[in-house]
Amino acid sequence: KLFNEIQDLRGNIRVFCRVRPFLPGQNGKQTIVESIGDNGQLVVTNPAKPGKEGQKTFKFNKVFGPAATQGEVFADIQPFIQSVVDGYNVCIFAYGQTGSGKTYTMTGPNDATEEEWGVNFRALNNLFKISQNRRSTFQYEVGVQVVEIYNDQVRDLLSNRTVIFVFLNPHTMGVTSISQPNGLAVPDASMHPVLSTTDVIDLINLGFKNRTVSATALNERSSRSHSIVTVHVRGKDLKAGNYIYGNLHLVDLAGSERVDRSEVTGDRLKEAQHINKSLSSLGDVIFALAQKSPHVPYRNSKLTQVLQSSLGGQAKTLMFVQLNPDVTSYSESLSTLKFAERVS
Ligand code: ADP
Ligand code: MG
Repeated sequence: KLFNEIQDLRGNIRVFCRVRPFLPGQNGKQTIVESIGDNGQLVVTNPAKPGKEGQKTFKFNKVFGPAATQGEVFADIQPFIQSVVDGYNVCIFAYGQTGSGKTYTMTGPNDATEEEWGVNFRALNNLFKISQNRRSTFQYEVGVQVVEIYNDQVRDLLSNRTVIFVFLNPHTMGVTSISQPNGLAVPDASMHPVLSTTDVIDLINLGFKNRTVSATALNERSSRSHSIVTVHVRGKDLKAGNYIYGNLHLVDLAGSERVDRSEVTGDRLKEAQHINKSLSSLGDVIFALAQKSPHVPYRNSKLTQVLQSSLGGQAKTLMFVQLNPDVTSYSESLSTLKFAERVS
């Protein structure tokens, strides 16, 4: 039901907004959020123009306010995980400035309790549960890859090396995988079979330790790379003997904040340019899909090439638009909201 509704609207793209709470000790506590409606409406106020004049309304499939728990957020994601087990490709990614809660949504806080688990762990946990429930009719195999894209280079976070990237093209690909009969986007990155949520937690934690971080003025250990957990699922129909394939990309994007060109040089400038280019390529691909454009510009960045199998066609895409509620983040929040508005 959920997906028929999306298909009618604009293909298989859904956009959820999540406003994170103020953190203990955070100065100000003055929020740009005017109101959050049950209907997916978010009203923000420009702090320089209080009152009606400074208000802007944005519409999403759903808005999660600061009090929303990880469990409540996952309840709206679960149908996507069901789809993966049913043989669809799914991409879930979090977009927003550094500090807006992308990692919290996708993974959870450091050393998360089960209650605090983000989408990654809940998704895998759910996937194992569904496959258990179906064990008399389907036999599932699950494999995981964890890569990051930094300066348009793909690195395997589980073997900690740069990998050769191969564009997904059914005519030239020889490598098959359990979820991509036509070949993997990143066949060179190590594939790890997983049997339980514990296996997944260990792998993801190992992978994320290897993420590229560098100092920024905004956040000392801000992530300047995109991290991608890819879950490959192959289910054997025990009665008919054939296979169904699904994959799930779980993406924690690099911070979307604009960098002041006058303040950074060298490596930081290069990083910033790569981040800008890849995020705008992702925006262009989703915009093209939302418009049902015949040409989808996947080739413009490594990010969109790696994610191609789960963007467009029968695939289902979910974007989390993450917001820091503080007035000092108003202009970044507005640019995040504009990115979302373009693809909604
Ligand atoms: P990002 O990955 O976008 O840079 P983080 O996920 O690291 O942002 O979030 C920044 C800080 O805010 C972290 O300390 C994180 O634990 C906290 N945080 C983010 N979202 C929430 C939330 N929904 N509830 C509680 N704390 C949150
Ligand atoms: Mg982060």
